Amino acid sequence: MIYNDFKDLSLSRLGFGLMRLPLNEDKTVNKEETFKMVDFAMNHGINYFDTAYPYHDGESELTIGELLKRYDRETFYLATKYPGHQTAESYDPKAIFEDQLKKCQVDYFDFYLLHNVCEKSIDTYLDERWNIIPYFLEMKKQGKIKHLGFSTHAGLECLKDFLNKYGDEMEFCQIQFNYIDYTLQYGKEKLDILEKAGIPVWVMEPIRGGKLAALDDSDLKELGEGSVASFALRFAAQFPNIKVILSGMSSFDQMVDNVTTFENYEPLTDKQMNKLLEIAEKMKESVPCTGCRYCTGNCPMGLEIPKLIDAYNDIKVNKSGFTPAMYLQALPDDKKPTACVGCGACKSACPQNIDIPSIMKELSEFMPTLPDWDAICKERNAKAEEKRLKRMNDSV
Ligand code: SF4
Ligand code: SF4
Repeated sequence: MIYNDFKDLSLSRLGFGLMRLPLNEDKTVNKEETFKMVDFAMNHGINYFDTAYPYHDGESELTIGELLKRYDRETFYLATKYPGHQTAESYDPKAIFEDQLKKCQVDYFDFYLLHNVCEKSIDTYLDERWNIIPYFLEMKKQGKIKHLGFSTHAGLECLKDFLNKYGDEMEFCQIQFNYIDYTLQYGKEKLDILEKAGIPVWVMEPIRGGKLAALDDSDLKELGEGSVASFALRFAAQFPNIKVILSGMSSFDQMVDNVTTFENYEPLTDKQMNKLLEIAEKMKESVPCTGCRYCTGNCPMGLEIPKLIDAYNDIKVNKSGFTPAMYLQALPDDKKPTACVGCGACKSACPQNIDIPSIMKELSEFMPTLPDWDAICKERNAKAEEKRLKRMNDSV
């Protein structure tokens, strides 16, 4: 295993992301397989484990708590997240945090994150009524959180906004980063922004939920020796400000493959890096918007056309992608693609000759097929609250 320094810690480059654990037929977590994976991870030098309150409907925290308690607390770093990104009627950081400590059977978290600070959740995180960030800063003072950070799927403006307000308090940031999202979700720009803010980066979705684990034979031949997933992991490992690469492994074989990549780590050559970026372009099937904004001044509805095209491209790559869904659903109705009146004023201004009205129409048709973020959150919150209350009653 190879390691990166973070303050006085030495973190394994590969971290175990616990959101896609192996499942039984009834969709509960397969503990036996997870047990094997955690032991393999610990025996091969992985020391970073990343869970979150909603993962596997709350089972992820319970499972990792049960499995890691067999190890000396000093030998692993455990991270979890506060679910402020889930739309709810009200927020109670204290109740959730105390529940998380119990579920994970620990007295403190090494790393604690505000889960997905984004366009849809930033107001919740900053809302003084809920006392979210001050509460976690207090927990840090009390030693129950060793390092406080945040994860995000936000666009660049929202990320900058949050950093302006709370950048000084955030010790690390977790972003989606891989050779497609290097351009598709502005991974490169996000890395630059965070580096300038002096915030080290943790990466999630380095293999984009497994989507980058299948490449054409001809592409693979050009890339040379290595498993398909290894190229995606090595891509993320090329960037010095990226300290931890979290892979959401779902099987023992994936664990072995990923550990092997970091036990025999070889940086990518320039040729391999360029090849991966070329593959990413092919995968994106993107509308070639350069973001010049010549179109936006002409739009009578004031639509953020380049950002809507980004969302369109993202949906094309990953039809059920929740990141574009969250972005689109957070827009006020008069700024959604459905507000486009089809006047065509944008089209004549576009140097790339993009048929913007057609894109807006297609995107409007996609909208009802996207996951309904608010409904999903409501359902998840109700289930999580029911389980939390049950745990409280059981422990009385
Ligand atoms: S066609 Fe739609 S996006 Fe283009 S300028 Fe008219 S309202 Fe705006
Ligand atoms: S004018 Fe064309 S290329 Fe420029 S931002 Fe608008 S859609 Fe994109």
